[in-house]
Amino acid sequence: MPPRLHTLSQALRAVFGRRAKKIPLDAGSSCPNRDGTLSLGGCLFCNAAGSGTGLHLKGFGLLAQWAALTGPARRRGEALLGYLQSFSNTYGPPERLAALLAEMATLPDIAGLCLGTRPDCLDDAKISLLAAAPLGHVRLEMGLQSANDATLARINRGHTAATFARASRDAAAAGLFVTAHVMAGLPGETVADFLATVDFLATLPIAGVKFHNTLVVAGSGLAGLYAAGGYVPMAREDYVAAVCQAITRLPAHVAIERQNADPAPGELVAPAWAADKQGILREIAARLEREDIWQGMGMEREREEEDKECLRRPGGIIPPGPP
Ligand code: SF4
Repeated sequence: MPPRLHTLSQALRAVFGRRAKKIPLDAGSSCPNRDGTLSLGGCLFCNAAGSGTGLHLKGFGLLAQWAALTGPARRRGEALLGYLQSFSNTYGPPERLAALLAEMATLPDIAGLCLGTRPDCLDDAKISLLAAAPLGHVRLEMGLQSANDATLARINRGHTAATFARASRDAAAAGLFVTAHVMAGLPGETVADFLATVDFLATLPIAGVKFHNTLVVAGSGLAGLYAAGGYVPMAREDYVAAVCQAITRLPAHVAIERQNADPAPGELVAPAWAADKQGILREIAARLEREDIWQGMGMEREREEEDKECLRRPGGIIPPGPP
């Protein structure tokens, strides 16, 4: 039986011919949704740490972080990928990005780059810089969160779904690998909205997806809404069921890079079940098995239906009417 989903490890092994390790690095980047350009408050679910390690603020440059963090993976003979995770790493003038990429290229034995950013921080000039960087395999991690513009406004994302579609198409056309971040359980959304976001992704040239359950983290706008009784987190079993459905709707080649969110130590306010990352992963795997479903299955069924429909059309070989 082939695997029920295509993981990032499998995708990277196909690229490098061995295991690969993402090394999280903090380049001291900022975000237009936090510095006042778009807003000061940030996305409703984000706190001021911006998912980062904070090492840059503590005075550690990229080379020092790289030297401190690559030892074990190096000893195991793994391909080393620099992972610029925190905030929006393509934000600012192109010259800043050019300097950042040049510095990344000097890190010893770097075999590739994963870079987190926002779709509205990615114009043609920056895409060209990324595509030309001497960094081997380059993956862009871009937040979409929802394909519903009303939700994006509600959570204060500061961009639309069309902005994401444009950026992902342009980046893919330049040879970059795009990973989309999406969330289930956003305020005001149902499971149907989440699955509509997944269907939207399936129409785009993306190479990977990270699924997140919406977390209430300390210091976020969502924490205030939750405390006031204005937000109820998704139930654990509903999240597991929703992700399994989402997996069936994604094309088989898309790498599923994350199946649930990973709260930073001490930051999780709710739901408590989100702290059990491994347990949720086991439940997702068990449900895929129990229901005998797999990645891309929904699209296979859709194609089969289209083929049958084609045969039923005038001139087809199946007579119209009930099956
Ligand atoms: S989630 Fe990302 S884009 Fe939103 S405020 Fe935080 S760092 Fe900025």
